Amino acid sequence: MDLGLSGKVAVVTGGSVGIGRAVARGLAAEGVHLALCARNQERLSGVADEIRQAFGVRVLGVAADVSVAADLERFVEAVGAEYGGADLLINNAGTGSEETILGAPDEKWQHYWELHVMAAVRLSRALAPGMAARGGGVILNNASICASQPLGYEPIYNVTKAALVMFSKCLANELIAQGIRVNALSPGLVMTPDWQKTARLLTEGKEQTWEAYLENIAHENAPIGRFAIPEEIADFAVFLCSPRASYSVGSTYYVDGGWLNVT
Ligand code: NDP
Repeated sequence: MDLGLSGKVAVVTGGSVGIGRAVARGLAAEGVHLALCARNQERLSGVADEIRQAFGVRVLGVAADVSVAADLERFVEAVGAEYGGADLLINNAGTGSEETILGAPDEKWQHYWELHVMAAVRLSRALAPGMAARGGGVILNNASICASQPLGYEPIYNVTKAALVMFSKCLANELIAQGIRVNALSPGLVMTPDWQKTARLLTEGKEQTWEAYLENIAHENAPIGRFAIPEEIADFAVFLCSPRASYSVGSTYYVDGGWLNVT
């Protein structure tokens, strides 16, 4: 299926590893030029080189912390200088948390608000007018199944991802008249280096291997009985970015191996 994305420009936050890297590679495979950001410049540059060599597209990699407004301004300026704007925006950068509501200070709530919500607000505000001028575009916000089915140990993550989903819905209503489709994606368990690191830590010196620990989590939670690989999320994301998903507006799409119990 030709996805009709060749020659487009995509901004992907958190594009240096995990789901973001897989989305970047998936878009590049369709001939999309990329602007990636992440905090660690070295890892980002490595991925930018890898994608350029593999797919022959242009890749801009800018070290930026999406929770910092000034970094986002610098990133958007670099995108403007390189490409004159963007057609696709994938707000993907984010991370889990661990706290109790009664124990977490204001600063922690504020940080996750900046990271999961304001980054998407600021990048959408900065890039959407250019998208409209280029004939329309797509904004895809990577939320989480936790936005609607919370995990007990990470209330701040759950709450800020839920806010991101509502932001997507409101933005979709505001931008569809300008030819910009906004949606949210809610993955379930996706095998990334972070999960592996946590599993190694938690099983250190124990009888259970880290692989068995993760297998157990998958069996307990996802009816499919395994984690997704990042590419299984990326394929869906790339489709949603394409004109083949032209009637998909303002929705949240679960890619979760059946984990969601209620809608
Ligand atoms: P990873 O930890 O594997 O990758 C995160 C990416 O985001 C990296 O490129 C990281 O680079 C970047 N990043 C993190 N914080 C910032 C920041 N403040 N500013 C800029 N870049 C940042 O994450 P995943 O691939 O697992 O997750 C990606 C998204 O998917 C997240 O929003 C996550 O909540 C969501 N998700 C993940 C699931 C999973 O099971 N893995 C399930 C559901 C949702 P660097 O560290 O260099 O900044």
